[in-house]
Amino acid sequence: MLTAETPIEKLPKVIPALAKRLHHLGIKTVRDLLFHFPARYDDFTNVKSIGDLTIGEIATISGRIKKISSTRAWRRRMSITEAIVEDDLDSIRVIWFNQPYLVKTLPVGSRVSLAGKLTTSKRGEYFANPAYEKIGMSDGLRHTGGWVPIYPETTGLTSRWIRFLMREVAPVIKKIPDPLPSALLKKSTLLPLERALSKIHFPESKDEYEEARKRFAFEDILLIQLRVLMSKKQLEEKKAPPIPLGLEEIKKFIASLPFSLTDGQRRAAWDIMRDTAKSVPMNRLLEGDVGSGKTVVAALTSFNAIRSGYQVAYLAPTEILAIQHFNTLRHWLSPFGVYVGLLTAAHKKFISDYGERDRVSIRSMTEAGEIPMLIGTQAVIQDGVKFKNLGLVIVDEQHRFGVAQRAKLLRQKQTGNSQEDYSPSLIPHFLSMTATPIPRTLALTIYGDLDVSILNQVPQGRKPIVTKIVPEEKRSACYQFIRDEVHRGRQVFVICPRIELNEEMGNGKWEMGNVLREEVKAVKTEYEKLSKQIFPDLKVAMLHGKMKSKEKENVMRDFKEGKSDVLISTSVIEVGVDVPNATIMLIDGAEKFGLAQIHQFRGRVGRASHQSYCFLMTGSRAAAESQRLKALVTAKNGFELAEKDLAIRGPGDFLGTRQSGIPPFAYKSFNDLELVQSSRDAAREIIEKDPKLERHVALQKNLVKFEETVHFE
Ligand code: ADP
Ligand code: MG
Repeated sequence: MLTAETPIEKLPKVIPALAKRLHHLGIKTVRDLLFHFPARYDDFTNVKSIGDLTIGEIATISGRIKKISSTRAWRRRMSITEAIVEDDLDSIRVIWFNQPYLVKTLPVGSRVSLAGKLTTSKRGEYFANPAYEKIGMSDGLRHTGGWVPIYPETTGLTSRWIRFLMREVAPVIKKIPDPLPSALLKKSTLLPLERALSKIHFPESKDEYEEARKRFAFEDILLIQLRVLMSKKQLEEKKAPPIPLGLEEIKKFIASLPFSLTDGQRRAAWDIMRDTAKSVPMNRLLEGDVGSGKTVVAALTSFNAIRSGYQVAYLAPTEILAIQHFNTLRHWLSPFGVYVGLLTAAHKKFISDYGERDRVSIRSMTEAGEIPMLIGTQAVIQDGVKFKNLGLVIVDEQHRFGVAQRAKLLRQKQTGNSQEDYSPSLIPHFLSMTATPIPRTLALTIYGDLDVSILNQVPQGRKPIVTKIVPEEKRSACYQFIRDEVHRGRQVFVICPRIELNEEMGNGKWEMGNVLREEVKAVKTEYEKLSKQIFPDLKVAMLHGKMKSKEKENVMRDFKEGKSDVLISTSVIEVGVDVPNATIMLIDGAEKFGLAQIHQFRGRVGRASHQSYCFLMTGSRAAAESQRLKALVTAKNGFELAEKDLAIRGPGDFLGTRQSGIPPFAYKSFNDLELVQSSRDAAREIIEKDPKLERHVALQKNLVKFEETVHFE
């Protein structure tokens, strides 16, 4: 008797070799197979008689094999199987490539159903490489004559095979209990599991499979929501230290800045400080386009926390950025007697009245509460640095999943002087900052109930960045433009072509080290070329992730101080780097980067009043014409860009969270605000009545499984 838990190798016909391939797709049991959903469907619903076929039309025909034979075309190293198929009135030539066994599978006289396209050549019309099956062999058609599912495949395991197996296990569908309560199904007009499973694999119409998809997307989003709500509930039981608002001192601090704040900056800082004054832990996202001035908002709120005797942790995504923040904040805060520590894999620095103290233990000073503000790379700080009195955590440019990430940070204990001083339930306030505009649906789903502040204006006097797509033939003109701009005193970033990430690398299976090595190779070649051939008259510098920290720091500092003109870099400068005198961002091989990433690169220029330019260089004509790159030219800011990208590709790619493991249906449904809202409401309702899911056992089980595959952090 087949059940959902039956191991896949117990199925008749699943020989060990096949089992191995199924395992490769993550399919170990009958249940796994049933939850292996089609990626798409072939529309073979157009059923025609042979005589009615028109050229170019995709159709399903049926008839009898009148002749069939196979020849090897040696020169082209392929085999060609040619058949004549006839129905009552007409006949048609059919050609298959590289399937010589069809002569045996479809012998003369067999009745077949074929689905494909009618094509024409010098030798007349023929049906090219159609999907085929014999009629009368089984319960109806599987591979032709309807909506035919195309599954994620692997070498040696085709959709045809999967469709075959799916029929074998179909009777198990009705034995799988539905994790969604029936009242919920009714209320949200969702298909019950049994129907949804059978419609996703054996749909009779487009509506049917779309309804099935909707049900599974709903369920996935519901699981994400449940997880987010549960984490949130745990957080809500905690308290944060209320940080009083020191208005007078804040005014002094603002007055000391080299510029006046924008209204948006004031508003955001105010939102944040009002939140941190409460004993409810703040969970806020500060969203502001590149260059909108988020750092100063962070500085302001940090200052207020430090003034009240709390420590602040400031986490940056890269070492370069950590150093930059360290320098900026040090500059702003030291006049007020606030000294900042820097901690990365390579740096341990604390600069105070007593001069630079390099070799002291930043960790122990932080633990003793002697460092009011610690800036560093995320990994390093998260990795067990203890604080005496942590009041605020700021995370810069990390499009991670807010709630879970925070939960992880908060797992870190505070030391305190004694056990009584700090109840373990006291946790810091949390501020996350990003230039990535997060689609509302995604914010709702993944970030849970994050509060959001938006900086929707850039500081006064900035000119919009001119963005141009530059085809290969304009390369030298572009270089000349760069030279002129440098002669005018400006500086230039060149982002180097990155090697193409193939699927496997994209999945994170590839050693990151290899990618880095290739990038370094590319940047070195480019450096040679630009410094020796193109710009021998200019000062060209190079930056990549494999350089020693000290080197990187020197290169960055020299560039910031105007000692070099052109900086060739890998994507290490993607985020946050601030060199206001730089006015050109040239991205070579632009088609290889994601839109959000290019937008970040572009944000490295236009950070002062000079006119700035972003050149998207591409050798590919298709890329130059593509919607994607054009979206960068027309979209004036990240929000517009996000909208466009959402329309082109869906939100997952924009965020680069393809690696997150979020199921594809859920992904696609992030476009569907209504669906997200309703699954969110459902999750709320469930958690309210049954906070530990004790009465939703199947759902709880799925949640556990889901957590194993989806990486929330
Ligand atoms: P981002 O939001 O991308 O992190 P930054 O905080 O790095 O932006 O700020 C970008 C640049 O704008 C910095 O050089 C910063 O000093 C400057 N800046 C920030 N706020 C203002 C302002 N209100 N007026 C003028 N310049 C500002
Ligand atoms: Mg920034």
